[in-house]
Order: sequence, then C-alpha cells, then structure tokens
Amino acid sequence: MGAAGSSGPLAMSPGPVPGTSPLRRPGAQYTVLLYRVAVVAVALWALLATTTVVWILARGGLGAISQLVDSPARLFSSASLEVWALGAVGAFLVFFAAFLLCQAVGRGLLRLLDPRPLAWPAGLAAPESPVRLLTFASERPDAFTFALLRPRLGFSWTRDEVIMVSDALLGALDPEEWTAVVAHELGHVHEKDGRYLTFLRTFAHLMRWDPILAAVAVGFTRREEFRADADAVELTRRPRALARAIYKASRLATPSHPGPLAGLLGPGGRRGQRQTFERIRRLVALAESGQFEEEAVA
Ligand SMILES: [Zn+2]
Repeated sequence: MGAAGSSGPLAMSPGPVPGTSPLRRPGAQYTVLLYRVAVVAVALWALLATTTVVWILARGGLGAISQLVDSPARLFSSASLEVWALGAVGAFLVFFAAFLLCQAVGRGLLRLLDPRPLAWPAGLAAPESPVRLLTFASERPDAFTFALLRPRLGFSWTRDEVIMVSDALLGALDPEEWTAVVAHELGHVHEKDGRYLTFLRTFAHLMRWDPILAAVAVGFTRREEFRADADAVELTRRPRALARAIYKASRLATPSHPGPLAGLLGPGGRRGQRQTFERIRRLVALAESGQFEEEAVA
C-alpha cells in the first residue's frame, strides 16, 4: 500500500494548523542544554587528547608514554604551554572539520539524491518553524534529518531543517505508519538532533581512535532514538503504527555501517539491531499500557 503523502506540491510544512495545539515540548530546553554541555565537554576532552598526542610526539614517541604514565603532572607544567597551544590548534581544526563535514554531507545529499518534495501528512500538526520534507530514490528503507546553515541578508544565518525519506520506505508504509515516521523525524528536528547529534557523531567519527568520544556519540544516539519515538507517540497517539514502521524498515534493511547520520534504524550494525528490537518492544508495551485507547488493533 502506498504512503499517504507519496508526492505533493508542498516542499515545506504549511505552518501551525488552526485549531491544533502547538507541539508540547517540555523537555526540549533540557535536551539542548545537555547537548551544549556535551559539546563543551567534548571540546575540552579533544583539547586534552590532542595536547597529549603532541606532547608524546614532541618527546620522541612511544618512550614518552611511560614518562607521562609515571608523572601525568608533566603535561600541566609551565614548560608545556607551547604544547597546549598546538593541542588547541589541533582540537579546533578537528572541530571545524567536523562542522564543515556535517554541512558538506547535507548539501551533498540534496545534490546527489535529487530529492522531491512531499506533502505533509494530513494527520500531523505542522511544526512551528518550516521543515522541508523530501523523498529520494533508494532501495534502502531509510529516513533521517539534518540541518543546513544558510546565510541571510546581512550577517546572520538561518537553518534549513530537512527530513528525507527514501522511496523504498515510503512505498512500504501505510498512511498511519508514514505519519508515525514523519512524527519520529519531527522529534529529532524539535530537539535539534540535526545540529548537535550529527555534529557529535561526525566529530567522534573523525577522532575514532578515541573510545570516550565514540561512547558519548553512541549514548546520545541511543537516547535520542528512544526520545524521538516517545515524541512521535505523543504527537500521533499511535505507538503500534510506529512499531510496525520500524519493523518493516528493519525487515527491508541490509546491514549497514554506522555513519554521521543516524537513520530510522539508528546506528546500524548489531548495536542498531538490538536497539531496533528494544524500540519495538517499548512501543508495543506503550500500546498495551491502555493509554492509547483510540488506536485500532493492528
Ligand atoms: Zn530517529
């Protein structure tokens, strides 16, 4: 069965629908605050990591590691100021590269995938700020969001929020499931995952030798998938529809490697499979909790 919004004239969400309450987002500020704390913590950690690498390289490589293990305070002596300056430059370059890469990936996807605009699902209240909803040709059942910085007149910037859904996923979903998937992606938009989470994942990808950064990115990805599911249920009151959509996507999917953009099935790989199973389990538990009586039995 085809999706409700298989194709249509609307590239942007039409703004709040009269008579519907705007999306209630009590936890939004908390998530963004958490992201900002994480970005600062990751920046400080990257500074320490790159400075340590510079310190070791400047003192002859492997032999210097035992010196540092014997006395970590050496790194913080006044004689190491120059090393810290170089470490700061290194950390900044990686940070900047991650930012540019995020923007390049989003722009590249829009250019390469040649996406088409989709109509906003009829049963879903539109977000307060416009969001572009697009589909692209792909055999992979996928949906993801990202944010692009765009210069405005003067010296300010604006962000384009984009939700992209592959036609393989679109064609597999019924209208209720399709609405649930867009609501899930809208959850990512509202919590600014397209900005912060994509950045954190890209940054961790660039510094993949650092297990702590990888753990931070994995932890946030997991948290945000569950949270976007909860947002979708709050919006649509249809936990079973989202569970069915995720199940269908997982049945159609082939194993994929983790990348900067976490799609509908999360991080991919075995961890993604486990997470997908857990999400379906939680959604079914929600459906059976009796809070959503209006939902038709699937
Ligand atoms: Zn998601």
